[in-house]
Amino acid sequence: MTFFICTTCAVQFDDRDRPPESCPVCSDPRQYVPDTGQRWTTLDELRREHSNDIAPQGELIGIGPRGRVGIGQRALLVPWGETNLLWDCVALLDEQTAVEIERRGGVGGIAISHPHYYSTMVEWAHRFDCPIHLSSADAEWIMRPDPAIRLWEGDRLDLGHGVSLLRLGGHFPGSSVLVQENGSDGRGTLLSGDLPLATPDRRWVSFMWSYPNMIPLPAHEVRRIADALTEISFETLHSAFWGEPVTDASAVVARSARRYVAALETVGATG
Ligand SMILES: [Zn+2]
Ligand SMILES: [Zn+2]
Repeated sequence: MTFFICTTCAVQFDDRDRPPESCPVCSDPRQYVPDTGQRWTTLDELRREHSNDIAPQGELIGIGPRGRVGIGQRALLVPWGETNLLWDCVALLDEQTAVEIERRGGVGGIAISHPHYYSTMVEWAHRFDCPIHLSSADAEWIMRPDPAIRLWEGDRLDLGHGVSLLRLGGHFPGSSVLVQENGSDGRGTLLSGDLPLATPDRRWVSFMWSYPNMIPLPAHEVRRIADALTEISFETLHSAFWGEPVTDASAVVARSARRYVAALETVGATG
């Protein structure tokens, strides 16, 4: 029996004697199956071919495979009491990574923004003997069920130590962000996964339903999400990929939402 991993999204499936027929995450219009076809790998294969980079991301620590694995996101280690919370997840977990994380206080819990980053979350939960917090709104996307998974309901989950999850929806019904109240010298840090996503120009963020297929969210959804984010304040925003965080981030999100909605709503007038 093997726990197969989809090569394109790096989500791991429950154990079986042959690969699944298809990957529901990549067959969904928010992702894609490459024109070379559906391919599968395993954690052992990833361990042979890759190692993780562990490096600062602003005041947090990023963890992500060197060389492209799946969508290419990196996870973040968020100080959480005596230990850390792992925000989002990456497919490659090897002993070297685990030892390095243990040296920094280990992982006491895992929270993931949305199904594109579920990856090998169960492997991480077993290695660190900790729970995984997922929005119940995305339960159908769990490809490897496990007792470590705890589904949370509603729009907000307080995880203690000034850390909470806020469900914004939009990209997926359960798409969530992590709010670290005491981050950025008490001015607040937002970890956003794919929504809002930092753009190459760090003065702006974007709000898409599908990034690889470039399908925007409707204007009313962008307004709703930007409004929800005015309820909290945050100086810094990290989205899912390596790079400098966005600063003055509350203002950046509000300004970006206005620009984005204006672009959507002027298409009819100019086109
Ligand atoms: Zn996939
Ligand atoms: Zn995504």
